[in-house]
Amino acid sequence: MTDADAKTHARRRPSLKDHSRGALRALFAERGWSAYRADQVATWLYKQDATELGQMTNLPASLRGEIAAEFELETLEVEKAQHSVDGTQKLLLRAFDGARIEAVLIPEERRHTLCVSTQVGCPLTCSFCATGALGFTRNLSAGEIVDQVLHARRRIPAGEGLTNLVFMGMGEPLLNLPNVSEAIRILVDPKGLALAPRRITVSTAGVLPQIGALLAVAPIHLAVSLHATTDEVRDVLVPLNKRFPLAELMATLRNEPQLGRRRPVFFEYTLMDGVNDSLEDARRMPRLIAGIAAKVNVIPMNPHADAPYRPPPPAVVDRFTAALHEGGLRVTLRRDRGRDIDAACGQLANRAAAPVPGDTSGAGRAGRSAGAGARPESLQEDLAGIRWDPREAGASHPAVEAHALRDR
Ligand code: SAH
Repeated sequence: MTDADAKTHARRRPSLKDHSRGALRALFAERGWSAYRADQVATWLYKQDATELGQMTNLPASLRGEIAAEFELETLEVEKAQHSVDGTQKLLLRAFDGARIEAVLIPEERRHTLCVSTQVGCPLTCSFCATGALGFTRNLSAGEIVDQVLHARRRIPAGEGLTNLVFMGMGEPLLNLPNVSEAIRILVDPKGLALAPRRITVSTAGVLPQIGALLAVAPIHLAVSLHATTDEVRDVLVPLNKRFPLAELMATLRNEPQLGRRRPVFFEYTLMDGVNDSLEDARRMPRLIAGIAAKVNVIPMNPHADAPYRPPPPAVVDRFTAALHEGGLRVTLRRDRGRDIDAACGQLANRAAAPVPGDTSGAGRAGRSAGAGARPESLQEDLAGIRWDPREAGASHPAVEAHALRDR
């Protein structure tokens, strides 16, 4: 048994925050505890922000002892908080096995938006994304997703509250759907964190078989990482496209009955210089997404050391968004936040997630073989069978070739 395994097995009690209130009631009932005690626990955790069972004074001490024998409370600790000049805060959080993830809190005029992670690393290897370059370690538990929100909430000034939540941090949410779903149930529960479902957005690179199930969890919004208007280019940027190409992606979204004018898709389009920023791309997009109620979010590439791509010059960004407007699309240009602390989109890749010299905690890649959390789910296994190397894409798009076919 390695150190990493020992750590994992040392903490195999589930967290109370791994379970929605409904599930917790059932677990309590199975143990002969009154179901309403689960409601009291939820109130303590999510309304009163309790971090210890000892604070739950309306629970009998004997019951607190029995709960403590089976369940953890806290799943993450804040290792570091970085502050950007624009007010953005990036939290580096450490899990029981030493795995590190990031969450980003973005203050705006009347909003506080939090961007949460769903996996340690990511298996999708998108060629422009810093997290993709990390590799995949494991899925986060529901409690670890919820705890990102609780930690962030403590940093928001009293009386202001978290208004928006985006699942756009590290990882692919739809490859961790059971835990993401349970976290959403806790987050929207009026007796839980009571977030408005319509202010929650889950972003996917396009794991098509899971979209319907995600949308059924709660009336949250779906974002889809598009980034290209041809399979040729998207195969290189988002290798998952080889498995679920554009035509299938669009057909799935077009035929999904839970989507529509009141629940549009947010397409994210990271604009990269000379790769996907041509007028032809802008003109192809309205045709590509025709028949899908949508908004397009254009994000100039945030450069980082793990990708060769650059943002286009501002004039090209303007030309591109103007052409989308002319094509009849609803377009927003996403302002860059927290870039100075590597907290902007696609920059989440704490170097600490890879093993650190002298770190015996079993962090990072070592966690891959540790415990049940590291076992790939079937879809992941399935995806792992696909060859993801962007160099395999046979990109004949000259700009993509020039940028992506570098040596790693
Ligand atoms: N795996 C999910 C969730 C991550 S969301 C998904 O792909 O949607 C992260 C968002 O930031 C995605 O839209 C992603 O494409 C975008 N992104 C990644 N790297 C980026 C970069 N370097 N600059 C700008 N946006 C980036």
